[in-house]
Amino acid sequence: MLLILDPQAPEGALEALRERLARMGFVAHAAGEGGSAIGLLGPGDAASRAELAALPAVRQVIPVSEPYRLAGRAFHPEASRIAVGRAELGGRAVVPMAGPCAVESREHIFEMARLVAQAGVPVLRGGAYKPRSSPYAFQGHGVDGLRWMRDAADAFGLAVVTEVMDASQIPAVVEHAEILQVGARNMQNFTLLAALGKAGRPVMLKRGLSATLQEWLMAAEYVMANGNPDVILCERGIRTFETATRNTFDVSAVPVLQQLTHLPVIVDPSHAIGVRDKVIPLARAGIAAGADGCIVEFHTCPEEALSDGPQALYPEQLRQLLSELDGIARAIGRELDLRGGA
Ligand code: PEP
Ligand code: MN
Repeated sequence: MLLILDPQAPEGALEALRERLARMGFVAHAAGEGGSAIGLLGPGDAASRAELAALPAVRQVIPVSEPYRLAGRAFHPEASRIAVGRAELGGRAVVPMAGPCAVESREHIFEMARLVAQAGVPVLRGGAYKPRSSPYAFQGHGVDGLRWMRDAADAFGLAVVTEVMDASQIPAVVEHAEILQVGARNMQNFTLLAALGKAGRPVMLKRGLSATLQEWLMAAEYVMANGNPDVILCERGIRTFETATRNTFDVSAVPVLQQLTHLPVIVDPSHAIGVRDKVIPLARAGIAAGADGCIVEFHTCPEEALSDGPQALYPEQLRQLLSELDGIARAIGRELDLRGGA
């Protein structure tokens, strides 16, 4: 619940309120300008609400129905900003991230990092641990892949986002990446989410294949409740009855989430549609809808990619995409952060 404080409350009333809250088992978070309100985690029953409403320091008690207290806007009205390398998510600038689906070899990720930096993109993506639908498909290069990507990113002044599939991989991924990605298939892996609460690195949480916004926000809440406030939400398409595309991009998630949560929201048009020539229009839609960033797959030779080749942009398409996204961002009072690279 949310307590609106009475600015005319007598001296000592605030102190008495704080003591009472602690006794009743509430955890208090400051909310609103200049301490004008307090967000509470704890018993939300009618008797507790009535007890608090009677206190002199309290002007109003507002029950908050959302179960995602930390991720929700109610206690945290201002947008969260999350620094990643030299970029910041959740501010005015829209942050692009790009790279291959998977880290394929040391040479290849260096070439990809060079292209990413040359385009001005600040964050390099690439999976070293790959969640593949088939156990016979390429599963990623693991720690070798992490090392190659870190070296490539350092050579070109980039930050790294890469997937962590299992809690046992967290230490290695933390050592090599600025952002830890949770894949769609792991969005409700609650033990992984809880472990990421202690990782001390921003987490990019992809939307589950059939997750509602509330389920997704509750997954973010797991990370936050375990100590990590830096969660970035990534809309990557959901499973629907449609078969013409790999997934269905839920563009409505972007503005709805921005109302429900203070966390940055980015879009992944590559996985959302899975078809190369539709990635650019979808990315444009995501930024127009207000996304704080866009993560996209590209490849020097998509025909030979070890995974997700059909959705990988050609390098020249990445440049076209960035210039179009910058135009759209400017039309809505933002701009694309193209200061990436050394
Ligand atoms: C990926 O980013 O390469 C990936 C596997 O994404 P998702 O979990 O959204 O399918
Ligand atoms: Mn992929």
